[in-house]
Amino acid sequence: ENYHTVLTENRKLFNELQELKGNIRVFCRVRPFLPGQGAPNTVVEYVGEDGELVVTNPTRPGKDGLRKFRFNKVYSPAATQAEVFTDIKPLVRSVLDGFNVCIFAYGQTGSGKTYTMTGPDGASEEDWGVNYRALNDLFKISQSRKGNINYEVGVQMVEIYNEQVLDLLSDDSSQKKYPFVSRILSTTSQNGLAVPDASMYPVTSTSDVITLMDVGLQNRSVGATAMNERSSRSHSIVTVHVRGKDMKTGSVLYGNLHLVDLAGSERVDRSEVKGDRLREAQHINKSLSSLGDVIFSLASKSSHIPYRNSKLTQLLQSSLGGQAKTLMFVQLNPDAISYSESMSTLKFAERVSGVELGAAKSSK
Ligand code: ADP
Repeated sequence: ENYHTVLTENRKLFNELQELKGNIRVFCRVRPFLPGQGAPNTVVEYVGEDGELVVTNPTRPGKDGLRKFRFNKVYSPAATQAEVFTDIKPLVRSVLDGFNVCIFAYGQTGSGKTYTMTGPDGASEEDWGVNYRALNDLFKISQSRKGNINYEVGVQMVEIYNEQVLDLLSDDSSQKKYPFVSRILSTTSQNGLAVPDASMYPVTSTSDVITLMDVGLQNRSVGATAMNERSSRSHSIVTVHVRGKDMKTGSVLYGNLHLVDLAGSERVDRSEVKGDRLREAQHINKSLSSLGDVIFSLASKSSHIPYRNSKLTQLLQSSLGGQAKTLMFVQLNPDAISYSESMSTLKFAERVSGVELGAAKSSK
């Protein structure tokens, strides 16, 4: 493991990263009210610098309706994409040192998951989400290390819909596949995303990534009645595979970064939906609760980690727990109408962060 020490920029960062291994960090981001949404009526009472969040029950004004949560970080609606990325930069960069990293966005539809991970439609650089910024940063660092360590970067993009894995980058003849890519796949099969059939494309610049992600997003909408609907009911995973060759020693390291935009976590009233909608809802429930179970089991150092219960956790198995590092963005819609969904989102977040605050402790 000597390459970890060689590459890591400083000791403090290295220690931080060591601590992170096998642990999950939870960052909560509250999205702003959108123009034209009517008079803002918020459930978010207070956002503290120290990761504190206080929400209020709109039907119980006053002290009794307040609940306090604490996460590794909480972002107010004013937080910019750049600020958010600054906080996760060390995590992203550790991929170049041979770590496996998973970054998730969790929350109900409309809470800003895609905004955080990708950015708004047609985003300018300033609005770029984590995906573009991460790749951009990886290219910058790898460029600066060139000659000492030479990196190759490959990208995969898949979607999990109704427990089926779909390759979002398949079937595009205009994209060339390079041989190193399949080598990465076979040599990291126990290390990387276990989708042997999913296409992987080499990328050398952020504009390559933008092109690929556009293809992926287009493929995601194929066959969907309405793109928004479909994308809110499937998980999308962008995986960045990194191979670095130390030019002095000849040793090779591998790192993976999984960027996961999860399906909307909203509860679906079983009495109201039938057929396809019901099936989708059941699959989403199952995979999100399996993800929660896996992370919770890891956090509580359980001897059995239930990876096999969903496609999502199966795919990410080798990047959850062990040497891997996990970060979850928990997204909140600030609107009072969303109170009960926000509470269930926050409860999920509490559970996966391994710190479940009791009712007594949490009331302010
Ligand atoms: P989700 O992916 O959870 O369904 P979206 O990312 O599509 O939610 O966000 C819903 C809407 O809110 C979009 O129009 C998006 O651009 C906007 N939005 C989300 N988060 C922010 C933010 N932090 N700042 C500005 N607009 C945001």
